[in-house]
Amino acid sequence: MSNIKQQVIDFSLTNGLIKYNQKFQLVHAPLSLTPHTIPRSVEQHLRALTPIFNQLILRVSQNTDFLKEQLEEAAQTDPFVDKLLKLYVQFPDPQPLQLLINRNDYMLVAEQGTLQPKQVEFNTISVSFPFLSSKINALHKYLQQLPNFQAVVPTNPLKGVANALANAVIHYDVSNTCVLIVIQDHEKNVFDQRGLEYKLWEKHHIPCLRLTLEEIANHGKLKEGHLSINGQIAAITYLRAAYTPNDFHSPLTWKGRELIEASSTIKVPNLGMQLAGMKKIQQSLGQEMVLKRFVEPEHLQKVKNTFVGQHLLNEVISTPLGNVLAKDLACQEPHKYVLKPQREGGGNNFFDNELVQKIQSLSKEEELAYILMERIDAIVHSATLMVEGNPQEKECISEIGQFGIAMAQGSEILENKDVGYLVRTKASDENEGGVSMGYSCLNSLSLSD
Ligand code: ADP
Ligand code: MG
Repeated sequence: MSNIKQQVIDFSLTNGLIKYNQKFQLVHAPLSLTPHTIPRSVEQHLRALTPIFNQLILRVSQNTDFLKEQLEEAAQTDPFVDKLLKLYVQFPDPQPLQLLINRNDYMLVAEQGTLQPKQVEFNTISVSFPFLSSKINALHKYLQQLPNFQAVVPTNPLKGVANALANAVIHYDVSNTCVLIVIQDHEKNVFDQRGLEYKLWEKHHIPCLRLTLEEIANHGKLKEGHLSINGQIAAITYLRAAYTPNDFHSPLTWKGRELIEASSTIKVPNLGMQLAGMKKIQQSLGQEMVLKRFVEPEHLQKVKNTFVGQHLLNEVISTPLGNVLAKDLACQEPHKYVLKPQREGGGNNFFDNELVQKIQSLSKEEELAYILMERIDAIVHSATLMVEGNPQEKECISEIGQFGIAMAQGSEILENKDVGYLVRTKASDENEGGVSMGYSCLNSLSLSD
């Protein structure tokens, strides 16, 4: 094992499969040495779902009235949602081309003798790991030369995401432009972003600029409608920040966002897409009447099958024992639910006792800014997880994310496809799931027949 351990460390450090740990030391990314094995049919099904969800989210993102109506109540007590919604109304996107880069995350549950993917969430902003998931896959492919290592399903979302950005730059049709990557002040997941930047340069000869929102406010301006940074036009503004209120710590940060929104730069995502990724929207789409508005009839059942129950806290739910408020049900059996605010980036959800305490602390108005999701009872498998050079076998659960790309001009869809997967494997007693946050390990899929 020690030989393998060193090989894994060497490969990781050589290929950028790295991250900063909580102490800001450079370490190999947390990873699984054993792939997550799933049936071939499930892997095919997951890929087939991606274009359907791409189209669904694009349609939701284009429906201003729907987004306003759905998020209005949450906005009353959630200042972040309120501000985003106001910007959305104030700055209708002047850019007709939409590029959606998203990741749909699932867990597998055993249902009627088969495995059914259940959606954890749909990510539309700062969709991370196109680079690191390609690199963990490369590591697993390298390890196959050793005895007892399983073959893995190849994946390269880095290539798909870079190609999509490059295509959009071509559509922008202005010479000598760049991709502006909006970053956080103290980004730990920098290598995942850098990997994409280097790919864009190496394969497409597109330069990237990396700026915080404040820097964009300070150095950017509108030039004939374009977003110009020190004289360089940003064909695309790719947000790897701006998904949390922490990124808006000064009035200048909001100025930076406003400048982006006022310009014709292709926003990945634009405000409509960011809002479409809110947990409240996911909860609303769980209602068949709502879902029907955005999904073709032939896809309705497939999409519905991926949903677990999601409720507003004040929703009346009928049970065999009579009608009960969702929040009361959750407080009676907290281990069956997850309480979610309208936030991204991990570490924001409430589980178990904290869920009960949080629900009890909320006013009637504040309740409307949260959704209650049934907890997904994911299948458990054993895996060898290696964190900071220390391999340990554990009982685990895995979350599979499918990367989707869609490009649209109004209602015309120019491109719509799946570009690969990400697997995150974590000890089955962990609640949350982030790799950067230190909960999960990167992994690959392998197939069983
Ligand atoms: P964020 O947008 O902050 O990443 P998520 O909704 O993806 O929030 O939740 C974060 C993590 O919490 C997930 O990666 C998953 O591990 C866990 N989680 C979220 N929803 C559920 C659920 N319904 N059942 C089980 N685990 C969940
Ligand atoms: Mg998310």
